[in-house]
Amino acid sequence: MSFNPAEQLEKNPIQGQFKGVNPSISDSATFTFKTGQDMMDTFEGKSEGAFLYSRHTSPSNMYLANALAAMEGTEEANVAASGMGAISTTILQICGAGDHIVSSRTIYGGSYAIMKNYLPKLNIQTTFVDVTSLEAIEAAIQPNTKMIYCEVMSNPLLEIANIPEMKKIAEKHNVLLVVDNTFTPLIMSPYQMGADIVIHSLTKFINGMNDTVGGVVCASTDFINATKSVIDGAAMLIGSTMDSLRSASILKNTHTLAIRMKKHSENALYISQKLEQDGARIVYPGLASHKDHELFKDLHNTEFGFGGMITIDALTLEKANHLMKVMQEQNLGDLAVSLGFYRTLFNAPGTGTSSEVPEDEQKEMGLSPGLVRFSMGLDHNIEKTYQGIRQCMLEVGVLESVAV
Ligand SMILES: *Cc1c(COP(=O)(O)O)cnc(C)c1O
Repeated sequence: MSFNPAEQLEKNPIQGQFKGVNPSISDSATFTFKTGQDMMDTFEGKSEGAFLYSRHTSPSNMYLANALAAMEGTEEANVAASGMGAISTTILQICGAGDHIVSSRTIYGGSYAIMKNYLPKLNIQTTFVDVTSLEAIEAAIQPNTKMIYCEVMSNPLLEIANIPEMKKIAEKHNVLLVVDNTFTPLIMSPYQMGADIVIHSLTKFINGMNDTVGGVVCASTDFINATKSVIDGAAMLIGSTMDSLRSASILKNTHTLAIRMKKHSENALYISQKLEQDGARIVYPGLASHKDHELFKDLHNTEFGFGGMITIDALTLEKANHLMKVMQEQNLGDLAVSLGFYRTLFNAPGTGTSSEVPEDEQKEMGLSPGLVRFSMGLDHNIEKTYQGIRQCMLEVGVLESVAV
């Protein structure tokens, strides 16, 4: 592997004041200048490395942004207070009134909702397509299309976007390819495959502690500078800035990302192989039965596996709810939205994270009402966890009902 995102993440450790092993935290909203001229130069973007005001950037935000830019292999990055802060400001930086977006229809509920319900207020329209159909993507492009938007691994169906092929379409039509890599940090390196902009919700695997929300946009220096422009930058003017204390805390958690991702993947593969053998209707990209298994293998950084996300179809919403209730009672995980935590989290996307998507559209996408999405935790004894989940599935009648 020539590009190793985990090695990239490790390559520039920053010492703190007094030779601290962690960088010092910037605890200032504003910064001083020697002269009025110096301040003016900074405003005009002429003085490299000078800090102006923390909504623009701060030393702590810069350290975290630099680490994540290195991880994706982009020139620069900018952190935001949430994943949606990163997504919304990226869209607004690229699109204005009269512009058009081609987006995957199987994306995070909040991303879907902003494109479907909010952006039309600004006369920005979106066509939602099946991201696994390259023909559908290309056919949806209009003269006013500014970007193609997708997630590497779609939510909650775990379909894989063919980023290298999508890049060819984007290039041919001169539009930007914007990719959300929240589900597969380190596992996938979309920028290396041709994406123009890579976004993460740091809330999930990257921070991994479920103690905060956060986001990042990784892109070229030109794009990042544009979003931070004091004149017309979306991130600067909308104010999606992350707090410096939080940046410092998230940076420390990135140091364990590689070992965490490996363990999430190892546990998820173990559970899905075992439950598939038991006859469960299970979707996991690491299984040969997954329709995009081969594509995933072609694209991923092998050593990090196939990720921590699994879906199990319990067929009906009633059974899904019953299953989640007993699993929580058995201490196998938490019934909660979100993902990338040390404990297993599960929810029924039809009523939870994808509830922004209307019911008829859910059906069209293949989103079964009984779908349970799992974010596998870092459980030490995964065989015990497997036995526990299996027992709950038998109790609820999920295994039996699929065996017939
Ligand atoms: C959670 C999530 C987001 C939104 O991130 P927040 O930090 O909650 O604002 C965007 N994309 C994906 C794929 C997500 O899972």
